[in-house]
Amino acid sequence: MNRRDFFRGAALGASGLLSLPRLAEAVQTAASPYRRPKLKITDVRTAEVMAHGLQLHVRVYTDQGITGHGEATDAVAGGAALVASFRRALIGSDPLNVDAIFENIRTLGVFAGAQGGQYVAALSGVEIALWDLAGKALGLPVYQLLGGKMRDRIRLYCDTDIDRRDDPKAREKLAQVKALGFTAVKTDIDDAGDRWKAHQTKTNWTASNAEVARMVDDVSFMREVFGPEMDIAVDMHAQYDVGTAKRVAKEMERFKLMWLEEPVPAENIAAMREVRRSTSTPICCGENLYLRHGFRELLEQGAADIIMPDIQKCGGLSEARKIADMAHTYYVAFAPHCVVSPIGTMASCHVCAAVPNFLVLEWHWIHRMPLWKGFVKEGDIIDRGFITVPDRPGIGVEMDDEFARRAQAAGSSWF
Ligand code: MG
Repeated sequence: MNRRDFFRGAALGASGLLSLPRLAEAVQTAASPYRRPKLKITDVRTAEVMAHGLQLHVRVYTDQGITGHGEATDAVAGGAALVASFRRALIGSDPLNVDAIFENIRTLGVFAGAQGGQYVAALSGVEIALWDLAGKALGLPVYQLLGGKMRDRIRLYCDTDIDRRDDPKAREKLAQVKALGFTAVKTDIDDAGDRWKAHQTKTNWTASNAEVARMVDDVSFMREVFGPEMDIAVDMHAQYDVGTAKRVAKEMERFKLMWLEEPVPAENIAAMREVRRSTSTPICCGENLYLRHGFRELLEQGAADIIMPDIQKCGGLSEARKIADMAHTYYVAFAPHCVVSPIGTMASCHVCAAVPNFLVLEWHWIHRMPLWKGFVKEGDIIDRGFITVPDRPGIGVEMDDEFARRAQAAGSSWF
């Protein structure tokens, strides 16, 4: 409707010939030349990839031919069936109302496990696909829809798993990490197969003197190899009791770590806080917490210096942004856990670009470089330990289906 039609419509409205809703539409159309795209979801399909564990890829299809691609991880066993169970809530919906769709499916599942775990992980994959779709429909990168970017490049840390002085290949592997230009790394010091644990059962949570000494030597080795400039994070995978956690955190003070990760499980907030208060080593946790609700009390109780939500399972991009903002009010840094493909990693980068308290993002594919480089059509998206957030509409990377299918999970279907 042009301006003349509008005045004609207004006159007709005034004379009672045009209904009020039509008059309102006429006012809106005349006031702005822009039209919101009209889309309807027509289908949702999944594919499963075995890389760093099982990863669930979700595609949402629309009546305009625009599709969105999302990814979920870790808690995705049975995720394809869960996404199929969301179909009824998705088909026919306007995909641009991302938060409304998320909240609708989440609240529908209150009695079906929507407080966390597989339910929220599968929903995260759908939510991320909706953001990709919204960006493509509106012609904007996802970071723009999340409030715009505060930084162009996202700093990564390279997770190298276990690194030990007596491993003849360790120095070669760490030299490769250095050569790739990373400025931060993470190593694991918990080891279920630890020779010092031979006299204990695997479920025993107390480390012996020998095991603590081995942990200290592992980190000492990392410092020797990388020097004082490299930021080093150390993961204990929530496998130890409070006494051990406090001992290790104290021993780690000399190494000036970027953080010590989950020295105890994150669900016991009082225990985590006790460890944090006992040491100057920064404590990071939260890769197995879900939604804002999972982080609320942790932040209120001051139990962590840094939080690490996994964006591909904690609720998706919008929820991660809200968690980061909540953490920022407690002056807590945001360093997302991330083990997914370039698609999920790039989706995480859009959130990391949009929040003030971003510290560093995980990258966990050093042992899967060929798959990483071929997974999306854009190739290797990392340059010297950083990812530049793209300005293309949506997430900004596209799966190379033929290549990615090399890692298809056995017995799964492909979209
Ligand atoms: Mg961890």
